[in-house]
Amino acid sequence: MDLKLYDTLSREKRVFQPIDPARVRMYVCGPTVYDYAHIGNARPVIVFDVLYRMLRQIYGADHVIYVRNITDVDDKINARAAERGISIGELTRTTYENFKNDVKALGCLPPTVEPRATEHITEMKTLIERLVASGHAYVADGHVLFDVPSMPDYGRLSNRSLDEMIAGARVEVAPYKRDPQDFVLWKPSKPGEPSWPSPSGIAEQGRPGWHIECSAMSWKHLGETFDIHGGGIDLVFPHHENEIAQSRCSFHTPFMAHTWMHNGFLQVEGEKMSKSLGNFFTIHDLLQDWPGEVLRFNMLRTHYRQPIDWTLKGLEESYATLRHLMGEGTSAAPQFAPGVIEALSDDLNTPKAIAELHALHARGESEALAGSLAALGFTQRPRSRREVDKTQVEALVAQRLAARKVKDFAESDRIRDALTAMGVILKDSKDGTTWEVAP
Ligand code: AMP
Ligand code: ZN
Repeated sequence: MDLKLYDTLSREKRVFQPIDPARVRMYVCGPTVYDYAHIGNARPVIVFDVLYRMLRQIYGADHVIYVRNITDVDDKINARAAERGISIGELTRTTYENFKNDVKALGCLPPTVEPRATEHITEMKTLIERLVASGHAYVADGHVLFDVPSMPDYGRLSNRSLDEMIAGARVEVAPYKRDPQDFVLWKPSKPGEPSWPSPSGIAEQGRPGWHIECSAMSWKHLGETFDIHGGGIDLVFPHHENEIAQSRCSFHTPFMAHTWMHNGFLQVEGEKMSKSLGNFFTIHDLLQDWPGEVLRFNMLRTHYRQPIDWTLKGLEESYATLRHLMGEGTSAAPQFAPGVIEALSDDLNTPKAIAELHALHARGESEALAGSLAALGFTQRPRSRREVDKTQVEALVAQRLAARKVKDFAESDRIRDALTAMGVILKDSKDGTTWEVAP
């Protein structure tokens, strides 16, 4: 059966044909590690995990290479580390650890490679020097800029007019740019910011722009061209447009990735998720209230290219549906049933795949159902939800802390036991006490 995937660049659903079926290669832009990932960030992670699992079934687990990078050099990282008074290394390390725990709880397999930007500075500089040498980039005022007019078919992915690109992405107009569309490959570092010796004869130390990171990491781990490049729809412009420009002009190739895939955006209760609206949820927060499988299932009930409205009602339905489908939680080796793989082969139609799971359930095909659930990343029946009163738990945690401060260990143990009885597990560390609901 053919696998069909929608390609953002050609704007059509096409039969997927790997460049080398013995080495199917996929790159997905990963997180910038400065804070807990939010539930919108979980969408590409889950969607491309399903695709990864499918590719592994079709081509064999050893024949698929999935690269998801970690952006560990960025203005937001510098600012947050300074704000918290910790080193950049400590911030990126702990944020990455949290991310790893979150996505594991969401039932995602680790990618084959998780490269870090700061470990690929040499490759970035090599690409930058190639671009300068071939006239696709220039040095100005301590920066290296990509010369957009040097690439006649720049803009094909986002297919926008120049005016729209400038307006939409707030392309920075700077005096050192030859053309307002030109974008930064390398820039000077301010005092206290991470910096490396610069390429292209620039005397001052500097640091890479964001876009060049992904061109360098995909090149290092997947080669000059590869099969699938993915990320959220917001990355089409300028990030992916610029990745294409950098990679194609460095290697003189007609394409960077064969298939460009983008997930739609996630909203919460019909509104854009934002801290100021009070509807901002990290994966970590949601995992306090919901088993990871339920979050994963809720994400897959909507086709990945559609916008998704994340609601409490939807989560409750997902919880009930998954408990129903998983029955007593019979486990099986991961294997997609034919109807399920057929649905997924049509541009990852997960809502249709879920309808197929219901059909398997209705027909009593429990073996095929369990195999398909496992193949989709559902191996455990979600635990029954214990309703804990967060305010009450937080108050007890604070009381216990106060007891410990005055060395009243009998009282502190009594409170811990009371919390255990409520199904709450405490974790003490040097940074304080966190809690979670027991599985
Ligand atoms: P960022 O850390 O902002 O670069 O985002 C990491 C990934 O999450 C990218 O692939 C984004 O496109 C994606 N993403 C960010 N916000 C959302 C959202 N609200 N809905 C869906 N995907 C998102
Ligand atoms: Zn990227």
